[in-house]
Amino acid sequence: MSNARSATVSRRGLIFGALAAGALSRFPAPALAQAAGPFQLAPLPYADTALAPAISANTLGFHWGRHHRGYVDTLNRLVAGTPLAAQSLDDVVKNTAGRPEVLAIFNSAAQAWNHDFYWKSLKPNGGGMPGEALRARIDQDFGGFDRFRQEFANAALGQFGSGWAWLAVANGRLRLGRTPNAETPMIQPGVTCLLTIDVWEHAYYLDYQNRRADYVAAVIDRLLNWDFAAEQFARSRG
Ligand code: MN
Repeated sequence: MSNARSATVSRRGLIFGALAAGALSRFPAPALAQAAGPFQLAPLPYADTALAPAISANTLGFHWGRHHRGYVDTLNRLVAGTPLAAQSLDDVVKNTAGRPEVLAIFNSAAQAWNHDFYWKSLKPNGGGMPGEALRARIDQDFGGFDRFRQEFANAALGQFGSGWAWLAVANGRLRLGRTPNAETPMIQPGVTCLLTIDVWEHAYYLDYQNRRADYVAAVIDRLLNWDFAAEQFARSRG
């Protein structure tokens, strides 16, 4: 018992010992379950049961509660005492991208950003067709929704290993793409992300095991949040 207690104390001591004094004063009483630091894990925008059966509560529990939380906790630990601790998450991602000396910070920050964006890209009873403005642009840029749907699935299936599939606006045109690991299109000038699909195995393995295609089809057909995509699309046009 005393061993367990001292291990807990020393682990907490390490965490708090790495924090800048300023960070501590801004967050005087962090909950023990929550990492102290400038970046917060936002709640899921729906109940953890709301995406079932396409994505189970079990998957969301681990994916949001462990994986996403882990990226935020690691980010807070890595930026403690650095100027990055005072920046927005968007700025941390952009200011660390492509810099090998801060790769670990970029990975945590970009994964925190990507996951925030992924949760917003989904909604209960989503999927189906986008609204009129976006539908017209999809017809124009992809030659119809069915072709778009197939190309989005291909982007998700074609990502070898861990990564993300994206629908984005790049210099006024809709584009599909994929990124490995924590990489994200949001760092690119002239790019506004509209939707993403997480294709790391932790996003689907509990529900679909190795059947990534079934997970991707379920996300596209039943979960994509076209209202969110339309908001980002409108924002991209200023
Ligand atoms: Mn993930």
